[in-house]
Amino acid sequence: MATTLQEIDAASQIIYLDHAATTPVRSEVLDAMLPYFSEAFGNPSSLYAIAGESRNAIDEARARVASVLNCRTSEVVFTGGGTEADNMAVKGVASTFDEPGDIIISEIEHHAIIHAAEQLEKDGHHVITVPVDRYGVVDPVEVRSRLGDRDAIVSIMFANNEVGAINDIPEIARFAKQHGRETGKDVVVHTDAVQASGKLSLDVKKLGVDLLSLSAHKIHGPKGVGVLFARRGIKLDALIAGGGQERQRRSGTENVPCIVGMGLSLALAENERQQFCQHTRDLRDRFLAAATEHISGVVVNNHPQNTLPHIAHISIPGLEGEPMLLGLDFKGVCASSGSACSSASVEPSHVLIGMGMSYELAAGSLRFSFGKDSSEDHVDYAIDALADVVNQLRGLPSMTT
Ligand code: PLP
Repeated sequence: MATTLQEIDAASQIIYLDHAATTPVRSEVLDAMLPYFSEAFGNPSSLYAIAGESRNAIDEARARVASVLNCRTSEVVFTGGGTEADNMAVKGVASTFDEPGDIIISEIEHHAIIHAAEQLEKDGHHVITVPVDRYGVVDPVEVRSRLGDRDAIVSIMFANNEVGAINDIPEIARFAKQHGRETGKDVVVHTDAVQASGKLSLDVKKLGVDLLSLSAHKIHGPKGVGVLFARRGIKLDALIAGGGQERQRRSGTENVPCIVGMGLSLALAENERQQFCQHTRDLRDRFLAAATEHISGVVVNNHPQNTLPHIAHISIPGLEGEPMLLGLDFKGVCASSGSACSSASVEPSHVLIGMGMSYELAAGSLRFSFGKDSSEDHVDYAIDALADVVNQLRGLPSMTT
């Protein structure tokens, strides 16, 4: 077993196990993006030849995204990231309702959805929050029971960013559409698929959704670019007014290099999906088996089946996430905790509290998320480092010194 960072990865000096937070841009993607910063810099709306190059690059990226989503190219809207796509979905639909409507979300949505819904509540819309089970999974029947006699947008994430829980989106969409047909109300279904891309099929016809959000930086693409799939015929007001780009749905001169990066990173992630899932599932299982064997009291929070393959989520009772993360960082391991520092206090994550986890377990939780370049050596080193940090914090003798 390798025991030093240098033995494992002399070049990077870190073991990066936080792929659910972000990923590095892969070289093929960077190479494809580079010309659009310099020689092919034309504004896609202009009429001369280099502008045509930019337009063609956007068309190609859009075709790549449409092929992965199994939708029309006209249904793909490029945005400034996953947060913008989420905001555009819920706010863009709600603003088309004649009367205040229902915004049906789950307890484990990303803040991009929760805070957008809170803003809509101030405008008079009704926010209805559906509970989750102890693993973070939404029961479609719970969603169905919240559908009422108002126009509604149902926004339930495909896969959760903290614990990896996967939701049954086809069933949720089926209930929602059936309700819409029976009541004659507009019931629009959105899913945040930011964490699902490259791990689950994004075929929007099979999912049955009207709107779906993506972000490039979770799949080795650039930050600050995303996609909103908007099914033809869905009424959607634009968030950003201006020159009418993206068929009036998202104004502003297109971010051509990033759009190119979005298209290619998604196409590559989809091509490699099976391989990625197998590879990261093996690493995750190795990690969880070793964590439970070597660190006493570890609690595994992932759903046994309905979970993304690359996320391991654990709690260590009696300890807090922040000092563990700092200890890991000192040893060169990057991971995440289940708490977010707000101005003065450390608040446990709304996702874990929504799952019914105690404050103590939520405060002592850690997320390790693996990527295509992660290896067994990375896992073994991280486990040694974690065991050591836990022993130090518990006042026990260190394992390695
Ligand atoms: N939705 C989910 C589930 C996410 O994990 C993230 C990113 O952390 C976002 C939305 C926001 O995406 P972006 O960082 O591109 O704004």
